[in-house]
Amino acid sequence: MVPTPLYAGERVVVMGLGKSGLSAAAALRAGGAVVEVWDDKPGALAEGKAKGFAAFDGAAMNLSGVRTIVWSPGIAHSFPKTHALAVKARNENIPLVCDVDLLVETQSDATVVAITGTNGKSTTTALTAHLFKDAGRATEVGGNLGIPALDLAPLGRGGTYVLELSSYQLELMPHLACDTAVLLNITPDHLDRHGGMDGYISAKRRIFAHQRPPRTAIIGIDDPHCAKLCDELKGDGLHRVVPISVTRAVPGGVYVQDGILIDATGNSPSTIVDLRGIARLPGAHNWQNAAAATAAALSQGISAAAIAAGLETFPGLKHRQELVSVVGKVTFVNDSKATNADAAEKALLCYDNIYWIAGGQAKEGGITSLAPLFPRIRHAFLIGEAAEAFAGVLNGKVSCTLFSDMPSAIKAAGEMALADQEPGATVLLSPACASWDMFKSFEERGDIFRATVQQLWGQPLQGKQV
Ligand code: ADP
Repeated sequence: MVPTPLYAGERVVVMGLGKSGLSAAAALRAGGAVVEVWDDKPGALAEGKAKGFAAFDGAAMNLSGVRTIVWSPGIAHSFPKTHALAVKARNENIPLVCDVDLLVETQSDATVVAITGTNGKSTTTALTAHLFKDAGRATEVGGNLGIPALDLAPLGRGGTYVLELSSYQLELMPHLACDTAVLLNITPDHLDRHGGMDGYISAKRRIFAHQRPPRTAIIGIDDPHCAKLCDELKGDGLHRVVPISVTRAVPGGVYVQDGILIDATGNSPSTIVDLRGIARLPGAHNWQNAAAATAAALSQGISAAAIAAGLETFPGLKHRQELVSVVGKVTFVNDSKATNADAAEKALLCYDNIYWIAGGQAKEGGITSLAPLFPRIRHAFLIGEAAEAFAGVLNGKVSCTLFSDMPSAIKAAGEMALADQEPGATVLLSPACASWDMFKSFEERGDIFRATVQQLWGQPLQGKQV
């Protein structure tokens, strides 16, 4: 734990008692703050009280003497509707912060490498932390990924926190001062929570605010929103901007050309590694992640040779094109983390002869943007709330079947793929949807996929990727 003495002797409210809220409450109490907790859900509040925290009086809403409110990023404060406590806090000039903000403010001597983007955050964060650890650096990894920020180990000077930051967290981080900030890409997502695209972009942009010199700003330039931001950052004369691309050579940047990862941040471009040989980083989207992680490692003085070695040994993450099993000629891939069409597109691009399990709670736009990839799909096995709408989009282009539960869809997909014997046949769970209509989380959805494949066809190859 990182005990936080920032509010010793002062009144602090912790709003939202999920894992990160409870962890923040404990870290604040350990640092001497007078903590009051609140959650709109009675069960969660009861859990906070059971841990010995006084309950904030949500009816009276007395904020006298409160210095800050630690706000759970999952709880809406401004959009799609305002939260009464957030409005009152704003009127009384009380900042809302999240647990990761407390970590970076408390551990201000440590180096902070922060990573955001619409897609690829977790992969890039895990990969960056892997490169740092592999190079012998004292490193802790967290934020939006894995264990709550204040449950990480204290590092101090010489240590590096590699932090994944969501747009929700970035809105709650007035004290963020990154040494190296990475913005991978921006496509429309979570627009309801940010009041539209402008709000979403300005939340993402906050990662570059208040950076510490030399203010290394690493930014993917393959989408128009980030390309524009990159020009703006270059124009401000403050940042050391490192552009990332997988579509073209960028002077001063890190880029991928025909699968070759190239560092052009120095005097002349030099090859780091051939990414086509790294099975756990498949597809151009992962090359973007690899280029960004490489730029982050270079910015903190890690050598190209150490980076190349680290890229080769990256074990990959579960639920992101995770190779679950190979049965005969059929490969089973768990890409449950693809909760929107943009993410699913990346996986669909990696395989031919796809037996596609998709559906769930659809995002805006559904799967219409995936039409150019439909010829790769042999059959679609549709589940969840979106099944009928997706069937409508696929109608006349891809044959499909609707299922009321995922195990039946997996069984049908596997049996069809095994019977067809197509070369490179892949049963791909890449739902292009949120999981909440049928599952607790995308992790549960992916775990059920893995377990069902194992049950039907034998031992999975855990943790590997294709
Ligand atoms: P995040 O944490 O931002 O949700 P992940 O690393 O967990 O991102 O990857 C989620 C999914 O997004 C992956 O399964 C993959 O399909 C897709 N993806 C990964 N990296 C990228 C990228 N750089 N650009 C676009 N899509 C990506």
